[in-house]
Amino acid sequence: MQTIGVLGGMSWESSLEWYRLANERVRDRLGGHHSARIVLDSVDFAEVEAMQARGDWDAAGDLLADRARALERAGAELLVLCTNTMHLVADRIQDAVGIPFLHIADVAAEAVNRAGLTTVGLLGTAFTMEQPFYRERLAAHGIRTLVPDADDRRAVHAIIYDELVHGEIREESRQRYREVIDRLVARGAQGIILGCTEIELLVSAGDSPVSVFPTTALHVAAAVDRALGVD
Ligand code: GLU
Repeated sequence: MQTIGVLGGMSWESSLEWYRLANERVRDRLGGHHSARIVLDSVDFAEVEAMQARGDWDAAGDLLADRARALERAGAELLVLCTNTMHLVADRIQDAVGIPFLHIADVAAEAVNRAGLTTVGLLGTAFTMEQPFYRERLAAHGIRTLVPDADDRRAVHAIIYDELVHGEIREESRQRYREVIDRLVARGAQGIILGCTEIELLVSAGDSPVSVFPTTALHVAAAVDRALGVD
């Protein structure tokens, strides 16, 4: 089994989920007392959030590239970044290390393709929904992406930063997400990418009339299977 380098803390609420799911998947695959080989570097999210807010993607890229190098030095053989948003600087991270980097949007896109869908709705932070990096990555896999309208994007983003990254799960926010999903489906979305690693703490398959693609769970499955050499 390879050692997975986990670049996390964005937020720790979702990294905790990543860690738990990875260990459960190794246990389910190998049985007995097996658990995942992981080295974790967990950043202070306040630093990253401040860089996001002022649009200083260079500083964020430098910080995460530095932490990625530390994970490689610590023995990581495969690298994952446990946030969709910060894949905005994925190239910087990938260029900083010699180990493979498993891009979360590629993993999501492969799941959408396996399901035979061509048009998806994307939920995530404003950065993920509005900047081109994520949609372009999906487009490279032949997937067309719809994003919510401005009002809905504001609500989806605020619920992530004001509630989910603090571990707050509210029924009224789940209902708000359901409404956003329904509007995306009415516009033609055949599936919904939960393109923020905290969203699946709030929303699951039962909240959507079409398939959902939870990026934390999909990322874990792909990383663990690669670490075990079974992908
Ligand atoms: N975890 C979130 C994501 O997947 C948002 C937090 C962040 O900005 O990194 O995009």
